[in-house]
Amino acid sequence: MKRWRIWWRALADLMLPRTCLVCGRKLGLQEEHLCLYCLAEMPRTYFWDRSHNSMADKINGVIQEWLENDFPTEPDGKEIPLGRLLERYAYACALFFFQDEGDYRNILYSLKYNGNTAAGEHFGKMLGRKMVSAAHFADVDTVIPVPLHWTRRWKRGYNQAEHIAVGVSEAMGIELRTDILFRRKRTATQTKVDVKQKRRNVLGAFEMVKNGHEPSHILLVDDLFTTGATLYACYRAIREIYPSVRISFATLGFVGRP
Ligand SMILES: [Zn+2]
Repeated sequence: MKRWRIWWRALADLMLPRTCLVCGRKLGLQEEHLCLYCLAEMPRTYFWDRSHNSMADKINGVIQEWLENDFPTEPDGKEIPLGRLLERYAYACALFFFQDEGDYRNILYSLKYNGNTAAGEHFGKMLGRKMVSAAHFADVDTVIPVPLHWTRRWKRGYNQAEHIAVGVSEAMGIELRTDILFRRKRTATQTKVDVKQKRRNVLGAFEMVKNGHEPSHILLVDDLFTTGATLYACYRAIREIYPSVRISFATLGFVGRP
């Protein structure tokens, strides 16, 4: 860090001390968002080291299950041959395991509910720096955040997934696109519906539009991977426009255990 920035931060810390998102301890000058202890103890997934991991298995399971029941079609109404879709195993990667009893969930809460967009970019960069050395992500040419419906974005003032995507795209040196995938349908807060109902509700909520060059490998970015329903709905919207594009997934949190 440059000397003037250290002085500036020291002064700012004096006025309004920054605290660790996980343990709440006062942060030192060189620490950002997490204290060194919590940074070291972060339950990292190491999914970036393995093209085959539990998150990729989960999303590929969701994709296959739905393709078997619900064939997507080409823009002209023709059915897309199943084989063309299944040949593309989707890669997936998350930064850390998100557990209900763990304090690392505060990273996502602080981004989603407290306007801490800087944390989104910071941890997005951390994830991007891990992914950039993975061979299976080497040909990613487009980063797209999972979009919010405009009314929700307007109410919150920002899209949390977009801030993570900014960090990821910067660290990987890949173009970020926020002008080709849109959320057209607003779905109600879905805490009380079951998994199948949630998937049905969100399906058809997204729309992909053709604009500029055709991507060959898209990385979809969101804050948290739970059931994969939202990511699948985006996947399908993209595949309807670009049937043979490869689509991979990246989130900060993955609901699961090491
Ligand atoms: Zn801490």
